[in-house]
Amino acid sequence: MLSAMFRLKTALIFIIPAALIILSAVSCGDNTGSLSDYGNPPEVEKCFCNPDGVEVYLESIAESYPEITNLRESGTTADGRKIYTLELSDNPGIAENEPAVFIGGAVHGHEQASAGVSLHLIEYLVNAYPDSDDAADIIENIKLHVMPVLNPDGLDSGIRYNSNGVDLNRNFGFHWSEEEINNGDEAFDQPESAAVRDDFLAQDYSSGLILHTASSQNGIGIYGPWDAIPTDDVDFNIDNYAMIESIGENYSDTLTASAGYPYNPYFHYEEGADWYILYGSVNDWALGVTGAVCYSVELYGKQNYSTYDADLLDKIWNVHKKSIIDFIRSRPEW
Ligand SMILES: [Zn+2]
Repeated sequence: MLSAMFRLKTALIFIIPAALIILSAVSCGDNTGSLSDYGNPPEVEKCFCNPDGVEVYLESIAESYPEITNLRESGTTADGRKIYTLELSDNPGIAENEPAVFIGGAVHGHEQASAGVSLHLIEYLVNAYPDSDDAADIIENIKLHVMPVLNPDGLDSGIRYNSNGVDLNRNFGFHWSEEEINNGDEAFDQPESAAVRDDFLAQDYSSGLILHTASSQNGIGIYGPWDAIPTDDVDFNIDNYAMIESIGENYSDTLTASAGYPYNPYFHYEEGADWYILYGSVNDWALGVTGAVCYSVELYGKQNYSTYDADLLDKIWNVHKKSIIDFIRSRPEW
C-alpha cells in the first residue's frame, strides 16, 4: 500500500508591526523595464524567453528590489547553465515561520509560456508591493520561491527534454518506473531534477504549482496528485484529498475570462493519473517524500511557439493571475 507522509502544519499567526510596513513602503526600488526588455532578447525570436534573457531579468529584479527579493543558484544543468530561484519575501534569504510556496516553470523546454508566466508573476509582485493587499500578504506572510526555468537547456533548444534527452518530469524518485520512457537510467540521475529535489528539501515547501502548456486545448487544466495512480485504483491513497481537490477546483473556478484566451470552457481540475498515467513526476515525489502538495497547471493549449507573442503571453498571464495569486495565499494546513 502506498501512502503519503503528511505533516499537520500548525496554524500560523502573522503579526506585522506597522513600522515594518511603513519601512518597506519607502525602501523599494524603482520599477524595472517590461518583461519583453529582458525575457526576449532581439536575437531570440522563437521563444517567449530564453535562459540568458531570464538570467538578465532575474538579476535586474534582485538588484532593483533587494529588500524583498533574494536570487539564488539552485543548481547547474548538464550543459553548465545556472538554474535560478527568486525568493520573494520581506525577509528574503532568512528563515521565517511562514508557509513556503514553490512556483516552477519550463520543466519542459518547449513550453515556453510557462517560463513567461513565472516572470509575469514576479514582475507583478515587485511592482504591486506594498500597495496591493495580495502582494503585501504574499511578500510579508509567505515565503514564495519562483524557479522560472527548471530546464534551461531545453528552453534554449526549444525541446521538451534536457540536453541528455531525459524528460525531467519522469526522473523524480517516487513512483519512478523502468516502464516509463525518457526517464533516465535511474531517478535523479539528471542534474536538473536533483537540483529541484535539493531545493524542495532545503525549503520545506507546503505546496506548489508546476507550470506547463499542453499540446492541445483538450489538455489544459490543473492536475493534482497522484500522476501514477488513478483515483479508482485500490492503491490510491491521499490524506486530505478533499482539500487537495477543492484547491484545484478553486484554481479552475477563479480563472479570469479573456477574449484572447479561447479555451476557458475546457479548463478543469482533475487528478493527474485520471488524465493519463505517468511515472516519476515532480508532483508525486514532492507529495510522497516531502509532503508538499503540488499541482501541474497546463496554462494554455500550445507548445513549440514559433514566434514570440507578447500579447498572447499577457493574455495567458491575465487569465491565470488571480488563480495563481489565490493559490499562493490559500495556506492549506495538510
Ligand atoms: Zn509539460
